[in-house]
Amino acid sequence: MIQRTLALIKTDGLQRSLVGEILSRFEKVGLKIIGMKMIQANKDLATKHYCDIKEKHGERVFESLINYLTGSPVIAICFEGVDSINVVRKMVGSTYPNEALPGTIRGDFAHISKHYANGNKVKVSNLVHASASLEEAKSEVDLWFSNEELHEYKITSEVHLR
Ligand code: ADP
Repeated sequence: MIQRTLALIKTDGLQRSLVGEILSRFEKVGLKIIGMKMIQANKDLATKHYCDIKEKHGERVFESLINYLTGSPVIAICFEGVDSINVVRKMVGSTYPNEALPGTIRGDFAHISKHYANGNKVKVSNLVHASASLEEAKSEVDLWFSNEELHEYKITSEVHLR
């Protein structure tokens, strides 16, 4: 099934000048960028984006995540492709970079652990956010992009889908 999904290159991705590297990985597997922008998220947007995190990880992680996402600009991208939600998650890798496999973005460019983050009360800097389910992808694409910011065009990899 052709799906749309949201990816964010988080603040550390820009600060570490990894935007091109990260984007090119997604482009090379044939995912189509149908929306992309650099945006300074405010607290309201970050809170809406991470609305379920307090329940999942608690207050401390929620606060550090909001500061993480709003500390400097991020790149928001809407990708379209076959099974794109799973494909992007697979390429991003596990939440905790020390557990993420080599070859994934988090595994190749970071190494912080959950244990270290909890013990030192710091954020888990892991470069990229990616929607985790169809429902999440729909609501996150709507949250970050208006209809006018999403575009229709053909890329060459679509030839191989026919
Ligand atoms: P994912 O981003 O892989 O979908 P979650 O939705 O569970 O993972 O968590 C959202 C983000 O919260 C993670 O990407 C990470 O940046 C941060 N995070 C998760 N666990 C912790 C933690 N124990 N301490 C600090 N930050 C965390």
